[in-house]
This record gives sequence, C-alpha cells and structure tokens, in this order.
Amino acid sequence: MGFAARAPRFREDEWVQACVVLKTGATIGILGGGQLARMLALAAAPLGLRCHVYSPEKESCAFEVVHAYTCAGYEDENALAGFADAVDVITYEFENVPARTAAFLSTCKPVLPDPRVLEITQDRLEEKNFISALKIATAPYAPVHSASQLAEGLEKIGVPAVLKTRRLGYDGKGQAKILKAADANAAWRALHDVPCILEGFIAFEREVSVIAARGADGDVQCFEVTENEHRDHILHTSRVPAKASPALAAEARRVAARIAKAFDYVGALGVEMFVVRAKGKEHVLVNEIAPRVHNSGHWTIDGATVSQFEQHIRAVAGLPLAKPVRLGRKVEMVNLIGDEVEDYARWLSVPGAAIHVYGKGRPSPRRKMGHVTRIWPAK
Ligand code: AMP
Repeated sequence: MGFAARAPRFREDEWVQACVVLKTGATIGILGGGQLARMLALAAAPLGLRCHVYSPEKESCAFEVVHAYTCAGYEDENALAGFADAVDVITYEFENVPARTAAFLSTCKPVLPDPRVLEITQDRLEEKNFISALKIATAPYAPVHSASQLAEGLEKIGVPAVLKTRRLGYDGKGQAKILKAADANAAWRALHDVPCILEGFIAFEREVSVIAARGADGDVQCFEVTENEHRDHILHTSRVPAKASPALAAEARRVAARIAKAFDYVGALGVEMFVVRAKGKEHVLVNEIAPRVHNSGHWTIDGATVSQFEQHIRAVAGLPLAKPVRLGRKVEMVNLIGDEVEDYARWLSVPGAAIHVYGKGRPSPRRKMGHVTRIWPAK
C-alpha cells in the first residue's frame, strides 16, 4: 500500500488553535496502545480532554480507559485518515512509529512532538551524532556496517565495547558485549548483519535520567534527576532524590533541557545518562533519548504535584506546563515484571504505596505488567 501525497486538511486557523490551546472536550490521538498510552489517557481526563488510541494490537491495554480506539495497522491509510479526522492533535507513546505513518498523519493533523524527532531517535547513530553536535558527551562510538568496519571500530574504541543495532533495540535487545577483539565476529553474526553502532563500554558509577517537558510556548520544565537500577537490562527501580551533587544534578537537567530545545520539542522526553567519574569529579554521558514519556518518570504520578503524563498532555494540548514539586522526602518506583504482578495485593497494605496494574492480561517473562510507587512522607 502506498501513502498517497495529501494536501493538509486542517485550515490554518484550526492549526493555530490546535497549537495554542485545546478546549475541554477536544480529543488527543495517541499512536500506540500500551501502558504509556493508558497513563497518558488517565492524565488527560482531569483536564477535560479525551483520548483516541490507535494501535494494531487487539489486546492493547489502553483501549479500556479511552474515549475511543482504532485497532488497525500502521500502514492502513483509510483507518489512519479516519483516526486523524476524529482527533484534534496526534501524539505517540513509542518512538518506533513508522516514519511514513507519522508523515502521512502530519498532512492531516498536527503531530507532536514533530515526526522529525522520530527520524533521529529511531536510529542510535543519528541520535549520537545529534547529541555530539550539541557538544554533549556520550560514550565513544563508531558506525559499523560490516565485520571489517567492526574491527576498525574496535581498534579506535578498544575493549570492552558494546555492539548495538542502530534500529529497534530496547531493554538490551539487539546488543552484544565484546570483551576481547576475538569476540567481534561472533557479536557481528549475533546481530544478523544489520547496520550497527559500536560503543565503548562505560564503567559508570550509576545510571540516572531526566524527564524534561517543553511546552508549545518554549517553556521547559525538568523533573528532578532520577536514579535508575536495571536488572537484566530492564529498569527495575527508580529513586528520587538521586545520589547526585547539586552540580551534577544541574548538569543533568541542563543537558536534558538543551536536547529538548534543540529538537524544538513539544511534549515530555526522557534522557538516560551514565554518571562517570573523571579526575575526581562526576559528569554525565548521554546514553539514550526517549522522545516520549519514560518508565523512569512513572514515580511522578504519585510522587510529584504534576506527572510526566500530565506535562505531556499539557504540552501537546498547548496548555502551560506546571512546575513540578516532589511530594515526600523520598520516592521509589518498582516495576512489576512478569508474574510479579500476581503478587500486587501485598502492596495494598503498605503505607505510602500506590499500585498501578496495566491490565495486560497474562504475564510473560520480562513484560512490564505494572508498577508500585512508594512515598516516604516528609518528617
Ligand atoms: P540501552 O538499550 O542503550 O538503553 O541499554 C540498556 C542498558 O544497557 C543501559 O541502561 C546500561 O545499563 C547498559 N548499557 C548500554 N550501553 C552501554 C555502554 N555503552 N556502556 C555500559 N553499559 C551500557
């Protein structure tokens, strides 16, 4: 199926209205129907805004909490056009929306954040080039398109290193660690001969992230730096406050804000970083940008005066952002992965615990099924 070129169907005054402010009763279209879309829709409701989710998956857990949904493929032009007609503005809950889908929809209705952000963040190499051009530090990296280029990259970067597919990797999928040069061919074969990026393996002190939101008016609000613990490459626990000096926290927030501005971004985005120590001082290296709400920001639903989800909705609706303030002296978010969700009831009686079960049906290993946020009140 080809996407026919299409003239914009919204009038200029409608565009301006959509970019400036959505009125209550307006509908936000969300591409993707997982837990992030579900939590976005739950955050839109108190603002009087409706959500219409578009997802190819019949079992999408966002369907059950939204005003309307469309279950159709991302290549289905008729379904996409019907969806675009039914909404006032379109956003997404994941970065791998096919570029042609986003481009087609943006000829019908405003798509925020701008789909050009997807083109960059869908490709780890483009993303690293973008970050480096902003003079923001990353792990050393090199493009790899062949086994011989991998050998050259290893000469430059050294070992240990990590080979990652440029596209479609997440939660450690599409990655192979290279401990010694002799492992290079096995790593290249393990990733099936696809374009890759080679990164130096960083002996980081900790992993942190910053969720930044940028409004249509250019206002940027960052949540506080979050410390993240991964297990088996999947986020397990996020904690605030993070172990970070005021200088390190300011640097991390500055980096996230700079990226949001450089993208001319509208919405919430997550920036994952490694904390490294050099010459006795701690610094951050950016690992990855998620052009969407992010798992490490889930604590903000119960642990802050405004959540990352509400900030995203405010931004794409053209409403002013809020200045987030943490509630409690300490907040911790733990993911319920796989069958851990079956035990969720034990959290019901834990003081300060808030439970979020995503309604995804049967758990499977490594699948994010819910999360729990714990808040320790101020003394
Ligand atoms: P990613 O898919 O790039 O977010 O990687 C998932 C996890 O793998 C990260 O959160 C890190 O724990 C680890 N990781 C990824 N890249 C590197 C690297 N260059 N050096 C050390 N650890 C890494």
